[in-house]
Amino acid sequence: MTSNRRSKGNTSQANLKRELLDAVGSLLTQVRSALFITGPALSADSGLLHYRGVPGLVRRKPEDGKVFEAGLAIETLRAKPNVTWGLLLEMDARVREAAPNRGHEFLVRLERELPRVTIMTINVDRLHQRAGSRNVIEMHGALHDLLCSRCELSTRHESFAKLRIPPQCKACGTVLRPDMPLFGEALPADPFTRLQAELDEGFDIVFSIGISTMFPYIARPLLVAKSEGIPTVEIGPQPTDLSEVVDFRFRGSPMRVLDLIADVYGTIVSRRSQPSGM
Ligand SMILES: [Zn+2]
Repeated sequence: MTSNRRSKGNTSQANLKRELLDAVGSLLTQVRSALFITGPALSADSGLLHYRGVPGLVRRKPEDGKVFEAGLAIETLRAKPNVTWGLLLEMDARVREAAPNRGHEFLVRLERELPRVTIMTINVDRLHQRAGSRNVIEMHGALHDLLCSRCELSTRHESFAKLRIPPQCKACGTVLRPDMPLFGEALPADPFTRLQAELDEGFDIVFSIGISTMFPYIARPLLVAKSEGIPTVEIGPQPTDLSEVVDFRFRGSPMRVLDLIADVYGTIVSRRSQPSGM
């Protein structure tokens, strides 16, 4: 019905959004716990582009997608490790070029100031940790953790620049792989266990940030929160299956929207901390 909208007089779209930003910023000053589910569009605001969730691979020709998917398959890693590692080096270079943005930084601030903040990310680029976030559940693992699939030895790296390619396990000589699912592989189980423990504790507010594909494990925390009357927020450039379900929906760059919410949050917090007596 349009009459509803008309009855609000000349409230413009921009004002409406202002009200929503104010509401979410204010909620963040009241909650004790928050879950932030983050995805590729937040990293894209750092200049890091993705191909089907894989950071740093940019499709220049339509057939490039097939090349990426074939190159980043476990069979290729076994048969032609230099092909897979060529792509991994490209991803490594792009990821290292990217720096965390103000959106990442706001989540760091909230982790410092709220009793309990959890980030559940499908990004494998570690930008959250580089910004300073600590409680991060990496649902898809991380590009820079290398794993020996034979003896399961895992090593953490900041860069692949100094590795001899393809890198091999020091213990058994097997070619190492990144600890993230390659195309056609299942997701790791450990993050799900950790996520479930967090969900069992519950959250006072749940955000989805920069996610365009609502996989069931991403949608579930939002749907559960919604069914329990807990505020849900979606921020991102693309509409999703849940855009009409969440309580607050912001369509746009995650960094920009988080920045505006951070302003509201910061203003309320600083007003509150000013001495009232003098
Ligand atoms: Zn090994």
